[in-house]
Amino acid sequence: MKKKVLITGAAGFLGSHLCDRFIAEGFEVIAMDNLITGDLKNIEHLFQLKDFHFYHHDITKFVHVPGDIDYILHFASPASPIDYLKIPIQTLKVGSLGTHNLLGLAKEKKARILIASTSEVYGDPLVHPQSEDYYGNVNTIGPRGVYDEAKRFQESITMAYHTFHGLDTRIARIFNTYGPRMRLNDGRVIPAFMGQALRGEDLTVFGDGLQTRSFCYVDDQIEGLYRLLMSNYVLPVNIGNPDEISILDFAKEVVKLTNSHQKIVYKPLPQDDPLQRQPDITLAKKVLNWEPKTLREVGMKKTYQYFKGLTEEELYRSEHKDFTAHNRL
Ligand code: UDP
Repeated sequence: MKKKVLITGAAGFLGSHLCDRFIAEGFEVIAMDNLITGDLKNIEHLFQLKDFHFYHHDITKFVHVPGDIDYILHFASPASPIDYLKIPIQTLKVGSLGTHNLLGLAKEKKARILIASTSEVYGDPLVHPQSEDYYGNVNTIGPRGVYDEAKRFQESITMAYHTFHGLDTRIARIFNTYGPRMRLNDGRVIPAFMGQALRGEDLTVFGDGLQTRSFCYVDDQIEGLYRLLMSNYVLPVNIGNPDEISILDFAKEVVKLTNSHQKIVYKPLPQDDPLQRQPDITLAKKVLNWEPKTLREVGMKKTYQYFKGLTEEELYRSEHKDFTAHNRL
């Protein structure tokens, strides 16, 4: 009998890569997505497989899946500042109500559940690099609050289900991750730079560009998540790449990589944009025997190749996805 895994947010960036990984590992995959920010294009190659099933469902409503489930990976949520500013209420609901429904489902099915948390729980961090014992510096009512607080609540309710109901839980704090299948108009810096390079436009650096990020290639991220799910460690674990760079230096790298001679232009820094971010992955190294392997240069080349390989129609779709109508739901 194959093990069965439910993946929420399955048509999104990380969700779709998780679907690929679990299919490759020989699991039966139940993929769920409401397709607000996700795109079926990311998983359409899996539809022909007998071990892949797709449910078009909004997990903030009661979630029903027939039969047994062994594992649940909860990856449904808008995850870029632009996205959660467009649909703030849905962002809060999926992290809170959606997580509650999935924890209830995990309890009913006696399944192990891994939830996707984020480096945003650390907010604009006053401690550098960020280790799991740092409590964070979050503006609850700022533009990022809808995401940050939903994710903090998510961790809290997950631990409550663990301690009160004995649920088998895992919490991944995911730091900036990039790679194929990111959406070009999600506002994050890597797809933004990729789109600008493809169109021959100037690269937009926000603020003075001295703020830092540490970018993890998607294959490394998926490996870390897989190991965490299969481990026995229940407290939060940072999964990310500690290779830190300023956004300005990163923009210069992208100009070199894409060889398209764009200029760098400066735009205002969004409110509450964290000044620095770098994961301390000591814990992941110790409990998962994991660390990222992909150099930024290699990962960025693969990512650029992916975007360059999209057809006109795919590019248009990736650049113009509009989900503002969901604000009425
Ligand atoms: N950023 C930028 N230009 C862009 C998009 C983003 O300079 O066109 C900056 C943004 O202000 C932030 C960093 O790049 O400091 C990373 O932004 P992203 O939205 O990718 O993720 P975050 O880590 O802020 O959630």
